[in-house]
Amino acid sequence: GTGGAGTPAGASAVPYLDPAVPVAARVDDLLSRMSLDDKLGQMTQAERRYVTPAEAGKYRIGSILSAGGSAPKPNTPEGWADMYDAFQKGALSAPLRIPMMYGVDAVHGDNNVVGATIFPHNIGLGATRDPALVRDIGAATAEEMTATGVDWDFAPCVCVARDDRWGRTYESFGEVPELPSAMTTLIDGLQGGKLGGPSSVLATAKHFVGDGGTEDGRDRGDTEISEKDLRAVHLPPFQEAVRRGVGSVMVSYSSWNGVKMHANRYLITDVLKGELGFTGFVVSDYEGVGRIDGKPDLTKEEVAKAINTGIDMVMVPEKWKEFIADLRAEVKDGTVPMARIDDANRRILTKKVQLGLFERPLADRSGLRTVGNAAHRALARRAVAESQVLLKNEGVLPLRRGGKIFVAGRSADDIGMQSGGWTVTWQGSPGKTTPGTTILEGIRQAAGETSKVAYDRDGKGIDKSYGAAVAVVGEKPYAEYHGDRPDGLALDDEDLKTIDRLRASGVPVAVVLVSGRPLDIASQLGGWNALVASWLPGTEGEGVADVLFGDARPAGRLPVTWPRDGDQEPINAGDGKKPLFPFGYGLTYGG
Ligand code: BGC
Repeated sequence: GTGGAGTPAGASAVPYLDPAVPVAARVDDLLSRMSLDDKLGQMTQAERRYVTPAEAGKYRIGSILSAGGSAPKPNTPEGWADMYDAFQKGALSAPLRIPMMYGVDAVHGDNNVVGATIFPHNIGLGATRDPALVRDIGAATAEEMTATGVDWDFAPCVCVARDDRWGRTYESFGEVPELPSAMTTLIDGLQGGKLGGPSSVLATAKHFVGDGGTEDGRDRGDTEISEKDLRAVHLPPFQEAVRRGVGSVMVSYSSWNGVKMHANRYLITDVLKGELGFTGFVVSDYEGVGRIDGKPDLTKEEVAKAINTGIDMVMVPEKWKEFIADLRAEVKDGTVPMARIDDANRRILTKKVQLGLFERPLADRSGLRTVGNAAHRALARRAVAESQVLLKNEGVLPLRRGGKIFVAGRSADDIGMQSGGWTVTWQGSPGKTTPGTTILEGIRQAAGETSKVAYDRDGKGIDKSYGAAVAVVGEKPYAEYHGDRPDGLALDDEDLKTIDRLRASGVPVAVVLVSGRPLDIASQLGGWNALVASWLPGTEGEGVADVLFGDARPAGRLPVTWPRDGDQEPINAGDGKKPLFPFGYGLTYGG
């Protein structure tokens, strides 16, 4: 919340409610007034479906989240603001009136809200090599988020994706630490440089640490590497995020050499908080604490373990009452020291004070008109254009105006396909899930009146009279482990058939690949006349058309190594393997 007065009359007499008092003194004052129940509540994050506004007040819940796609009805910006305010009013009904903080995964724009601007997923942003652009995207995302009240973004994912079979590869800016590190500018955009500005949300560097290095690219798997390699490959982006003042860090579901990260005190307390000097708070992943022992239930031992490991807030979507009761018992019998509880609270409350939540706890609805506005869509279109990587071109691109162009493929006219996972729903889905411009629509606009654009999803009906054919194919939306592909990265049969129909006509074919990662194309590439990696561009399909027609010069460069086939995975820059296209590869027009 960044709007709505919340300071009661006479509040200035109470130091923690007085904005003129320094942050640390406000937090100390507040802590001195809090009961154990107040403190346990602050460490608890519940999911909106499993908590009511009244409970938020009664249990002093510190934070509420929407898991991917968990949205209010109606799923409109106003619907979100109404939901937010209801929870906030519930939280403020407790005697100390500590505001709750609302968190979402806005990982490529404010993607849970229908009508928001959807930016390219991180892998495309990595291809732009443009940290200033990424900062602007963070600022636009924060503007759309704060209009709905939401205070906290579980982004950026600064994972270093080392195996493209991993279902979260597209959440990565790239396979070498330098890329995610450079793109931590997203944090500056989200937080507004300094927390508490007019559209500033708390950012989260996730998932700490080694999430992108698991064996066989298995999501939530084990990262089996030496400490030296962990520090060289996976730690640097977190170091950079901390340097930029990231407010929170989320722990990874993955393990490091067999030890669950949620139980790794050395890395969380000694390295992150100690060595890196992280002063924000550490949040668990969704039900991550309950999985420390490998079983889905949440035990008292796991709760104590997690807090003593250095986790400050626990994402316990459903079992938050059990969590509070367990933690209370572990504090009472001394298993969890009170000093740890106070430290966790100090970290969390400092961020709430810095965000300005005590002064402006409610949604600032004046920003509602920025959700999906023209300026944000123009920014997204530019990001899309910058993210396109031209991998092959036998002269078919740029497309010429004034002739006949044939467009085909199941990703050509589908906002859901081009946006990927984490779009309106957790997994995303094909179809008209949110307003935007499809790649086909972008092509039609760019082609203009003088050209004829024909479209058939399956590529049927093409003949020799067409000057060029464009096949827009790739992957269906997925998120997290649902997208793991241990068996390889083959292109879908349906896509191959579509491309082959176009090829059979003799018309030169440009393939536009809409996917979260490299796919197996080596055996096909010889028959294609051009290839563009579009990644998951989001709602602004014109950005793809800008590059196809040469209105923008292709400038994207591969953020990951492109294997000859999935069997080469893991394949990364400098490892001596012979890829199809090396890391950093990308062509342009006219030399
Ligand atoms: C994911 C996190 C996400 C969380 C909350 C988990 O499944 O691993 O990245 O922030 O859900 O939606």
